[in-house]
Amino acid sequence: MAKQPMLKFVKIERDMPEKREASVRSHDFDEIYAEFAKAKAEEQASRCSQCGVPYCQSHCPLHNNIPDWLNLTATGRLEEAYEISQATNTFPEICGRICPQDRLCEGNCVIEQSGHGTVTIGSVEKYITDTAWEQGWVKPAAPAVERSESVGIIGAGPGGLAAADMLRRAGVQVIVYDRYDRGGGLLTYGIPGFKLEKDVVMRRIKQLEDGGVRFVFNCNVGQDMSFDEIRDQHDAVIIATGVYKSRDLRGPGAGAKGIVKAIDYLTASNRTANFGDSVPEFESGELNAKGKRVVVIGGGDTAMDCLRTAIRQGAESVKCLYRRDRANMPGSQRETANAEEEGVQFEWLTAPKGFKGDETVEAVMVQKMRLGLPDATGRQSPELIEGADYEEPADLVIKALGFEPEDLQTLWGAPELEVTRWGTVKAEFTSGRTALPGVYAVGDIVRGASLVVWAIRDGRDCAEHVLKDFEKLAAIAAE
Ligand code: FAD
Ligand code: SF4
Ligand code: SF4
Repeated sequence: MAKQPMLKFVKIERDMPEKREASVRSHDFDEIYAEFAKAKAEEQASRCSQCGVPYCQSHCPLHNNIPDWLNLTATGRLEEAYEISQATNTFPEICGRICPQDRLCEGNCVIEQSGHGTVTIGSVEKYITDTAWEQGWVKPAAPAVERSESVGIIGAGPGGLAAADMLRRAGVQVIVYDRYDRGGGLLTYGIPGFKLEKDVVMRRIKQLEDGGVRFVFNCNVGQDMSFDEIRDQHDAVIIATGVYKSRDLRGPGAGAKGIVKAIDYLTASNRTANFGDSVPEFESGELNAKGKRVVVIGGGDTAMDCLRTAIRQGAESVKCLYRRDRANMPGSQRETANAEEEGVQFEWLTAPKGFKGDETVEAVMVQKMRLGLPDATGRQSPELIEGADYEEPADLVIKALGFEPEDLQTLWGAPELEVTRWGTVKAEFTSGRTALPGVYAVGDIVRGASLVVWAIRDGRDCAEHVLKDFEKLAAIAAE
């Protein structure tokens, strides 16, 4: 009888790729997990029980065919595993690195539910596509036949890029406009290198360019070019601009020097540490944590990224103020544990009341909180404890309280672009169609701050509908 290659979860324990020691990794911006060796990837993939109804797949926003590519990896058929993996995911190696797997695919793996430890789906996904790159299996998105229609995409983040890839493969002429000088959006300038090294993103931009996608960088739509000009130049336009307006803090002293926005801080760090760019605010110390007592306010993934960046920049101390407790924080538990290992101190159940210092911040006035009854979302609401305030000395305070959409209607002089009451662009579910003919929207600008994997899903779905709409228009023209 043929040897059963799968269902090894009873004998083989869950194992992640090796994580670099905190004392070593906290001095550089390289990724913290090593690559699986071939034998390890095969072994870990073989733990999958090949469920008839794979919950991992139904909880992956891209509905990746996980059981199949695990099976092919376990049996050494990596090129086929890559073909299946890339059929549903434009950037599998990126998702393998930065999806919050504990909330998505891995968190719903049945062998995790039975107490055996989830299949390490994300690490295997990363291994398959990193190998595909090494082996030259990843090809440019060049089409077999060119089409005459052109699509302008505003925003080169994962949503815009996923749409660009699908449309270009179908032969559409694609131009991506971005106000940054490089593509990738938050993959490049938001997420730090220790989670996602930048050559992984840059090779994807090059792959798209090699396939014929044109990028127009340093083009801030609404300023360097109007929305109407872009609409006039293309048969369809996809808005994929993400959300960049930082939520702010109020209270005495909130405008002092030394209190900065997370996105400015992370962008400066990503530019200097990963690309060697010169950033005056980093060089002047304004956006550099070196030698400083750093306080980060917030409990989400952006806060975790700021905290761990400050550690790597050589801060004297790095503390996180968060108004709920560990169990109720929005950030990933895995990233919180990584931050703690690297030396971050968490001050749970604390919130800023104001800031001390004449011109420059010297301390955060902190008030202590306790958890009250659950709110409408089921999370316990923080309540103030009277008379328990204290001062937390600080030279640099980083505000990581979340992001909201910019006011595109005003910035673009486009009142006809419908937005929701949260300021996100109103777009049809799945297709991304807005109320404006030929204008679509995808990713965070529709969902609000979300995840890379959802932006990819939106971009892919939208591209499919743009193509369908082109067919419909062609049919009408032919009548
Ligand atoms: P973005 O990635 O924001 O890209 C939008 C692009 O549009 C940008 O390049 C921007 O320059 C461009 N743009 C905006 N306005 C204009 C304009 N007017 N003209 C021209 N160009 C414009 N998600 C995860 O899944 N895992 C993580 O670990 C994770 N970590 C994160 C860490 C941080 C610090 C942040 C801020 C977010 C993180 N996210 C993470 C969320 C994730 O990055 C986003 O959900 C995702 O990038 C959204 O993709 P997008 O394409 O919609 O927008
Ligand atoms: Fe899991 Fe994300 Fe990969 Fe889907 S894309 S299988 S959620 S890591
Ligand atoms: Fe394999 Fe887990 Fe998915 Fe089942 S849920 S198919 S065991 S990875």
